[in-house]
Amino acid sequence: MGLLKIDKEKCLGCGACIDACPYGALDLVDDVVVVNEKCTACGACIDACPVMALLIPRLSGGDAERLSAYRGVWVWIEQFHGRMCEVSAEMLGQGRRLADTRGTALTACVLGRNVEHIAGEAVSYGADHVFLADDPLFESYRTIPYAGTLLGLVREHMPEIFLLGASARGRDLAGAMAADLHTGLTADCTGLDIDADTGLLLQTRPAFGGNIMATILCRDYRPQMATVRHHVFELPIPDRTRQGQIVRVAPALPEEKVPTRVVGFTEETETVHLANAKVIVAGGRGVGSAAGFEPIRRLADMLGGAVGASRSAVDAGWISYAHQVGQTGRTVRPDLYIACGISGAIQHLAGMKTSRVIVAINKNPDAPIFQVANYGIVGDLFAVIPALIDEFKKRLAVTPGFGAEAAEAVLTRS
Ligand SMILES: Cc1cc2nc3c(=O)[nH]c(=O)nc-3n(C[C@H](O)[C@H](O)[C@H](O)COP(=O)(O)OP(=O)(O)OC[C@H]3O[C@@H](n4cnc5c(N)ncnc54)[C@H](O)[C@@H]3O)c2cc1C
Repeated sequence: MGLLKIDKEKCLGCGACIDACPYGALDLVDDVVVVNEKCTACGACIDACPVMALLIPRLSGGDAERLSAYRGVWVWIEQFHGRMCEVSAEMLGQGRRLADTRGTALTACVLGRNVEHIAGEAVSYGADHVFLADDPLFESYRTIPYAGTLLGLVREHMPEIFLLGASARGRDLAGAMAADLHTGLTADCTGLDIDADTGLLLQTRPAFGGNIMATILCRDYRPQMATVRHHVFELPIPDRTRQGQIVRVAPALPEEKVPTRVVGFTEETETVHLANAKVIVAGGRGVGSAAGFEPIRRLADMLGGAVGASRSAVDAGWISYAHQVGQTGRTVRPDLYIACGISGAIQHLAGMKTSRVIVAINKNPDAPIFQVANYGIVGDLFAVIPALIDEFKKRLAVTPGFGAEAAEAVLTRS
């Protein structure tokens, strides 16, 4: 295991590399250094060797032929209790676009129990081929059987791009697979594209605390792996008439070889439905206290929406983390996002700027949130929100089932 190569002819057996290795990945056997499975190819040992007997071969130049053997875009289709997770459909939409740009096929990998219907759904969202592993072993997500089966498929069919949703399960699976494949993985991408000259996947994501956007390339290893959070990309429109090829595959290992068991599921006690809310009313440091969220809650209730928050409000302990929107919270894409007392820091915008309509209420006319807002109200949120509620109440009297569109109509008139 390991990418490190040792030239046994050159090795003096001096042990300098063993001392330099932070992972305990090198041992001395018969006066020659050998590498074990703990090697991460970090390269710390290379400079320690006095005779340059250690090498981490990089794929480049002469490996172009080898890299070109990798073809196709793959998406892991996450499902829970027999339902495809929305983020996977979003990934299929992006995968379709990337596959078309590369002139290649889009393949979906569906693992689960009684999930044949999801294979058909994946085709309707753009997949040309589906690998369907339908087996009791995959009833609940577990890293070892899921990663083992997908790794076998990747090694056999060699896709050039592999995409996963950045959910808890997707993050776990992506990391396990990338480490085993010795390839790069860009987590939480906010943009995916193909470089017109090189054909490489351009993986864009916030870096340095969200202050810059970095575009990351995986030049030398395959597949190029990326995760994307829910709602970053639009949900494609399914085409139920699409035809695709479904290939059934067997699990890579039997249940007896899986060391983990799922003993049950516990529902979260706090139900915050930010992800699918059509309307979100969010409060920031400007609400001033936990009690300051009261008008925000009333407005959200009136609009049938959910309550969001900035990290400052969460860090202050005014509201729980489950409500946090932004780079380190949830990414949301409601029809209407009302930001109250939120300045509009880049890390907050990263989680909500693709909302269809953004309303900002802030007493500072220069607050950056106004640059992304469709409607801006300069004023004290404790005066503006009750006025909005009154206005919405009048409208509610004539329009049952008040929602984002009606709210937008009221705001346009106000
Ligand atoms: C690595 C990293 C990750 C981060 N992740 C996130 C994240 O996921 N989500 C997130 O939100 N932030 C995140 N942040 C923090 C982010 O940088 C900002 O600090 C935070 O978003 C600011 O929150 P805020 O807008 O509520 O507070 P402030 O920036 O303090 O803004 C408060 C606003 O309220 C206005 N205001 C005050 N009183 C009133 C009033 N009575 N009526 C109307 N307006 C009023 C003020 O004019 C001001 O504009 C992250 C930061 C880092 C470094």
